[in-house]
Amino acid sequence: MEIVKSGVSAFPARRCAHCVRGRCVLAMRRDPESHEAWRCRVVSDWDRAVGEGQARADAFGLSPEAEERLCIRAVERVPGPEACEGFSPGPDPFLGCNNLWQDTCLLRPPRCPGPCPDFREGKAPGK
Ligand code: SF4
Ligand code: SF4
Repeated sequence: MEIVKSGVSAFPARRCAHCVRGRCVLAMRRDPESHEAWRCRVVSDWDRAVGEGQARADAFGLSPEAEERLCIRAVERVPGPEACEGFSPGPDPFLGCNNLWQDTCLLRPPRCPGPCPDFREGKAPGK
């Protein structure tokens, strides 16, 4: 493949804008369903808990302060990242898991097999 001959990148295509720590996130950018399927389970559970807390607060006409307390309690009931089988402790201040990129779990996207026709030189945000 020409792109390999030119020495643009070696396996995996770390200089590709769609490559994040060896994983290809291109499908997620093209297809919102992939994005949803690859979201971190803990982040999704937190979002769901907050949504349910807000809905309950609306239903009972609670004040914003009471709503916030309800949401915090709902989030605290969700099992944390340590309960996830893929959890890899790291310095990330949000979740503390090395596998988190934005809201995506990098254990889910496929591994980049090396430069492909969709290769685009660049840097993914925060990669
Ligand atoms: S080179 Fe191709 S497979 Fe690899 S990350 Fe880029 S788009 Fe994905
Ligand atoms: S491994 Fe980490 S990023 Fe992936 S789902 Fe578990 S906690 Fe989230």
